[in-house]
Amino acid sequence: METAKGTISKGISDDISQSRNLISQKSESYNFVKDSSDVVDENEEILTKWNAAQPITIKEFLRLKPGVSPIIDAYRNSLASEVNSSDKSPTLEHVFIRLQNCPWSDEIKIVRNKSNEQKDYNPATMTIEIGGNLSVPRQIETFAHEAYHASHRDLFKLYLNPVLIQNKNGVATLDEYRNARFGAEVKAFEIEIKINQELTSKMEGSNPITMAVLKKSPLAGFQIQGIWEKDTVALPNLRKLYESQGISGLWRFLRDEKPVRLDANGKAIRQGDSYQTETSYGERYDKQYKDWYVPNFNAERSIAEQMRQKFLGRGHTNSEFEDWGY
Ligand SMILES: [Zn+2]
Repeated sequence: METAKGTISKGISDDISQSRNLISQKSESYNFVKDSSDVVDENEEILTKWNAAQPITIKEFLRLKPGVSPIIDAYRNSLASEVNSSDKSPTLEHVFIRLQNCPWSDEIKIVRNKSNEQKDYNPATMTIEIGGNLSVPRQIETFAHEAYHASHRDLFKLYLNPVLIQNKNGVATLDEYRNARFGAEVKAFEIEIKINQELTSKMEGSNPITMAVLKKSPLAGFQIQGIWEKDTVALPNLRKLYESQGISGLWRFLRDEKPVRLDANGKAIRQGDSYQTETSYGERYDKQYKDWYVPNFNAERSIAEQMRQKFLGRGHTNSEFEDWGY
């Protein structure tokens, strides 16, 4: 047995021992040490899948050779860098520790498409989709945002909280559901912004973290043909918002603003004198609550219980399951 040469950086094995210490002595062991010939063959297979836009697991993602994914490269560079180096991002490192240690880690998949679009995390397939034609800083930022969603499911808050179980047969109210969802979204943006602060804003091709939102004309409702101020698209700097108003500022932004619908090149789509909009986050959560959370409650609750048992089996406590947002 030996560590595969040139495929698994020293940084990753350091990280594995670091995350073991951080999480628990009893945490799941990672299978990074293998017979080197097997690993080389396996790495070719992983690369083929990656290039064909097929999903790969976190373990496979971590085995991609240098130069294939700027996300893995940035993570390895960070691990190998000293504190205060411009390559160091403790937040990005934590994102990977979390991905490798959450109880459903083996089920998470990553896929790189060939698009310019920013893609999402799909909770139904547990897949993080990376817009492979995005700039390097944007790939890293959006990956970290979606990885936050992939590794935080609020299973305790939404399915296992004894208060919910006693009072409402275990089902969260719409307000409780909205709170959990908004909280998770705000935290995902916070991760994205911290990585921008620590790492990506110093990279070539970096842009401020933003989201295109509709700015209604101040004269809406008093329109005189042709001369009124029309609706515009605003691109607020979310890092500045966070730095001045903290997570409450982000929370208000997501609650109140209407995202503008963008085409494949990131341009706002016009509609008459205004722009097409996406449903707001609040509207999305209300729909999810009715169409997904309530009807699937029992099935999801039993998954939540399985995940908790797996977590407890690694020597953790119930309050850690709650506090860590699992
Ligand atoms: Zn999100």
